[in-house]
Amino acid sequence: MSTWQDDASRDLMSLGGRLALLTRGEGSHVWDADDRRYLDFLGGIAVNCLGHAHPVFVEAVSKQAATLAHISNYFASPAQLELAARLKRLAGTGDDGRVFLSNSGTEANEMAIKLARLHGGKTGKSTILVLNGAFHGRTMGALSITPKAAYRDPFEPVLPGVRSIDATLEALEAAFDDSIAALFVEPIQGEAGVVPMPDGFLARARELATERGALLVLDEVQTGSGRTGEWFAFQREGIVPDAVTLAKSIGAGFPLGALITFGAASDLFYPGTHNSTFGGNPLASAVANAVLGYIESEGLLENVTARGAQLRTAVAELPLVSGTRGEGLLIGITLTAPVAAEVRAAAHERGLIVNAPDADVIRIAPAYTIGDAEIEEFLTLFGEALSAVAATIPTPTETHA
Ligand SMILES: *Cc1c(COP(=O)(O)O)cnc(C)c1O
Repeated sequence: MSTWQDDASRDLMSLGGRLALLTRGEGSHVWDADDRRYLDFLGGIAVNCLGHAHPVFVEAVSKQAATLAHISNYFASPAQLELAARLKRLAGTGDDGRVFLSNSGTEANEMAIKLARLHGGKTGKSTILVLNGAFHGRTMGALSITPKAAYRDPFEPVLPGVRSIDATLEALEAAFDDSIAALFVEPIQGEAGVVPMPDGFLARARELATERGALLVLDEVQTGSGRTGEWFAFQREGIVPDAVTLAKSIGAGFPLGALITFGAASDLFYPGTHNSTFGGNPLASAVANAVLGYIESEGLLENVTARGAQLRTAVAELPLVSGTRGEGLLIGITLTAPVAAEVRAAAHERGLIVNAPDADVIRIAPAYTIGDAEIEEFLTLFGEALSAVAATIPTPTETHA
């Protein structure tokens, strides 16, 4: 008899992953095929903002699926119009903002790259400036603005006209010449290990982009939709971008992405220049409306901020932990040694899901709905995993003995 791993190796594209065969979820927990329970503090990589099988999500999917699921972009739907207006309001675009709905983060960024090209075509600017450590997605355009060699090198040649610099104020000042059509920035680089931009970076990027006539595009696929305790991470910085991309938590598990434009950037696209068959269909839009509406009506962003602070304080006391990064419920836990892979595995063995985006960083991105019970369970399981790994690391005195 073949195991599920045999089936996966035979039938699925060989791309890694598949740490367990998960069959159901409820709240912050998921269960595998052997009915083993896991506390899910990764949330499908910062996606399941209401946890699993939340009644609001279930009702929205069921109701809209039974009403009207898909219609193509030849038509509009009330759900789509409601979502576009909601996103404009939450982002604070004012009247002249515009919204396009896609199916994923990488697609939202593809459209933002096209926005940069349209802007460049109008202004004679050809360069897209990106930051080392950035992750913008896996399709060819988004990959081209993702400098990480391991992701990009096998697929060269990628899009021309992309320049990458370190995420420092000095590098930004030096690089920002008149050839720059757009700068892409994640306010916090999630995939790099929850690495925030340096103090003042976004404000200076905004100034330089305005001075030089470039677009400031913020990739808030991971930080947006309330993840950091604000609807958008840029709102903490007191700046307004020209465009922002969203995905991940916006649909709480239903595939959906968005590009939101501000001001003059809203006039760059015109009929025929972009579209998507599935993007923003009534089903996806209705789910996002229900999810975002619930976050708003329940005041969940306050919980994101409070629980994030509570977690960061408590985690700092655990063995092997050197510090924490991030905002709200996007948290990078840095370790005193490059043992994040071992800690992740030890956590998994104990029924806790986290991930290791870098050799010395554990990332958590739990549901916005977590309370004391989930945090207590997390601290117990994570503390045990850290202690187990710490016990395998020789102390300096032992090394020299
Ligand atoms: C996850 C992520 C993407 C890609 O989103 P997909 O939905 O996986 O295509 C892009 N940018 C950032 C910042 C992300 O975290």
